This record gives sequence, structure tokens and C-alpha cells, in this order.
Amino acid sequence: MPQPPTLKVSEIFFSAAGEGRRQGEPTIFIRLAGCNLRCAFCDTKYAWKDGREMTIEQIAVRAEKIKKKFRVDWVCLTGGEPLLQEVRPLVLKLRRAGFKIQVETNGTRALNFKPDWLTVSPKPPAYRMTADCRRLADELKLVVTRSLGLKEINKVRQALSGPVTLFLQPQSAASWSYKKAWKLYLQAARAGLSGIRLSCQLHKIYDIK
Ligand code: SF4
Repeated sequence: MPQPPTLKVSEIFFSAAGEGRRQGEPTIFIRLAGCNLRCAFCDTKYAWKDGREMTIEQIAVRAEKIKKKFRVDWVCLTGGEPLLQEVRPLVLKLRRAGFKIQVETNGTRALNFKPDWLTVSPKPPAYRMTADCRRLADELKLVVTRSLGLKEINKVRQALSGPVTLFLQPQSAASWSYKKAWKLYLQAARAGLSGIRLSCQLHKIYDIK
């Protein structure tokens, strides 16, 4: 008998979206396990591990249970790198249950569906993005690392054909990174770049998940 499709899950929880344009919105986070990158600044290294194998059905039931407790319309598939696993069946199931789906990806994987909101956060040093991610991105998010400069910001922007807002996100709420984000923001404004937004991780400020 064929086995039901499963995904390796790191955690599932309710919170306020912490980053980007959806910041502050009630959201169910489904953090999938595993990542194909090993960023030194990663703040979810625990999600690199194997995670718990769950069927699509089990994941959807958890989301429905959370929805019974909280007024929430959005599910965010995050990681790790959520697109390392075949998430389409889960997306279809959650959509049938009435959820809107955000995907947060590092941009290195192809997509076989269109999310309701796609956040692409390409990573140094290559800032690589697949054609799908470049085409479907609703927003870009760059972690303000020590090596990020205007050159990299320009490179990422130019990889996209249309105008997509780019969020400068300080690295793990470090004060040097906030200062650097502001400096880059000023440089970008002086250089005439549009669509650059200063950002922060709301969940770090509130000290919530
Ligand atoms: S891509 Fe994201 S999850 Fe993966 S190592 Fe880098 S910061 Fe961590």
C-alpha cells in the first residue's frame, strides 16, 4: 500500500509575522527541517537537523487546531529551506482549508506552485536565485551582514525584472547591524534606488517566537 506523503518538520507555532511586508499579521509558522546552505549568521540552526516526520494530514490538523484558537488566515512555510521538500500537496491541502500561503525561501530552489506571498532572501556570498524565485518574488529580504554593500544590493535588484520591495534586515538584532542598515539605506537613497525599506525582526524586539 502506498505510504501517505510526509514532510520533515522542525516546529509548528502561532505568532505574528516578524519580517517584511506582512510584519505583524497573525500567522501559523510551519518550519520545515533541513537547509542546503550553512550561513554563519543563521538564527534557526536548530532547523538544520532532521525534524519530525509528519504526514500532510497531521500537519493540516495541527494548523486547523491552531485556527480554532486564534483568528488567523495565513500559513508561512519557512525553514531551514522549505523548498527542499515537496510542499505542494501540503499547500493544496491548506488552501482547501481556507489558508493563504506565504513561503520564505533562500531562493536557491525551484517552485512548482505560486504562493500567495513569496519572500525571497538570497544569501551571501553568491546571492543566487532561481528563475522561479526571480519571477515570482513578492518581496526581497537581505540580512545586513558585515559583507553586504550597495554593490550586492544592486546585484540582487537587477536580477529581478520588475520592481520588488527590498527589505534591509539587521542581523539578529545586533546593534552594529542596525547602524549598518541605516548607512546602507542612506547610500541607497543617495544613489536613487527605489523600493528599499529599512526593516527589523519584530519577534526579536518582542522576544517572542
Ligand atoms: S538559508 Fe536561512 S535557514 Fe539556511 S542556513 Fe542560511 S539563514 Fe539559515
